[in-house]
Amino acid sequence: MNLPAPSQSEYSFIIAGGGMSGLSLAYYLTQSALKDESILLLSQDELGYPKKTWCYWSDEAETFDKIAEKSWQQLWFHEANVTSNLLAIQPFTYSKISSDTWFAYVVAELQKHPNVHFLKANIHHFSFAGCGSNVHTSRGEFHAKKKIFDSISPILCEPANEKHIKQHFLGWVIKSHFPIFKDESAHLFDFRVAFEKECEFMYVLPTSNREALFEYTYFSGKLRTKEQYREKIKNYLLAYYNLTQDEYDLVEEEFGIIPMRPSQLPTQYIHDKILRIGTSGGFVKPSTGYSFLRTQHLLVDLVQNLVSNKLNGQVIPENRFKSWLDKVFLQVLIDQNVAGNEVFEALFRKNSPQKMLRFLAEKTTWKEDLGLMTTVPMWPFLRAAISLAWRKNELP
Ligand SMILES: Cc1cc2nc3c(=O)[nH]c(=O)nc-3n(C[C@H](O)[C@H](O)[C@H](O)COP(=O)(O)OP(=O)(O)OC[C@H]3O[C@@H](n4cnc5c(N)ncnc54)[C@H](O)[C@@H]3O)c2cc1C
Repeated sequence: MNLPAPSQSEYSFIIAGGGMSGLSLAYYLTQSALKDESILLLSQDELGYPKKTWCYWSDEAETFDKIAEKSWQQLWFHEANVTSNLLAIQPFTYSKISSDTWFAYVVAELQKHPNVHFLKANIHHFSFAGCGSNVHTSRGEFHAKKKIFDSISPILCEPANEKHIKQHFLGWVIKSHFPIFKDESAHLFDFRVAFEKECEFMYVLPTSNREALFEYTYFSGKLRTKEQYREKIKNYLLAYYNLTQDEYDLVEEEFGIIPMRPSQLPTQYIHDKILRIGTSGGFVKPSTGYSFLRTQHLLVDLVQNLVSNKLNGQVIPENRFKSWLDKVFLQVLIDQNVAGNEVFEALFRKNSPQKMLRFLAEKTTWKEDLGLMTTVPMWPFLRAAISLAWRKNELP
């Protein structure tokens, strides 16, 4: 699974980073009127590495629905007090894609375009040169005549800083020795595991009656050792499925730390020579840690803007009210004046799942957002909003 190596040092577009956003962008460029432009993908890893699971929800047809491994229209929401609700989410669908399948599909599509090249190289830095810009790598220097798309520059989210909220998790795909899972529904939040003020929950995606992904997840600043997440998963399997370790096989493990931080980037205009995309570009929704579908939508719009030469557009259209809501929520998670589970429980108890899914996907109107805000625990949110205002809306 690979693309041809570079045959020149000058390209129209250079994409730094061959992960989800870099390859998505190459894919949309090759599906557009820009399909004949020369494109170089540069990445330190082989394409498709590391392996991940991507989930997203939508009430419309999406580009990669056809390669989803599994989709659900019912989601469990388990509250900490052991009340469980099965939420019917139609017209939404919650879908799971394995990164192996996704990379294989996208790379096969890119292979149809001999103008798309790939080089495994470590990128050191970027520089401006003449009318274009340069990428300096361990394997030489490359010139982009039109644009560099940067999905590798880090954003400010320090692992050891407890005020920098992250979605951190460790997941196990396990195969039970006998049928035990009900795969017609997934478990979006299982807060029965939450005992402290931190937002912690189990996330379960059963793909058959024997196989499921169990992901022990925190929305918090404090990381754990891998062994601690593993212990939580083992205990959960025993407590809620009565599964002992000799009754299942571990198929694979995934670990992730996704920054839940608003982008500190200045507004990016499409005319810039170097554009940041993906996690580097602030494409992760700060209050959820999801970015797969948001990345697809932002990149489709970005490519359309490039095609139609609407270069004054922004890479992420600014919605100050929604960004402020995200920040207030993150401040609530930092303050821990209310347990994280209580926030989600209040929201999901008092609003329909469809409204919540639209809200989390930033599809609600400001009036709906204001209505939703009346359903959260009022005092911790007010305190968070005041402390944010005090710091001129900057998170610590
Ligand atoms: C385990 C895991 C599961 C996730 N699950 C979901 C999910 O279910 N739903 C969802 O919406 N989001 C999910 N996310 C969040 C997000 O969708 C992914 O992190 C996604 O891969 C981000 O895409 P990206 O292009 O920004 O970064 P990446 O996919 O990480 O790509 C960045 C690429 O840049 C390369 N690179 C980095 N530095 C250099 C360098 N100096 N030189 C050369 N190359 C370099 C890397 O090798 C990598 O290939 C998940 C994240 C993780 C970690």
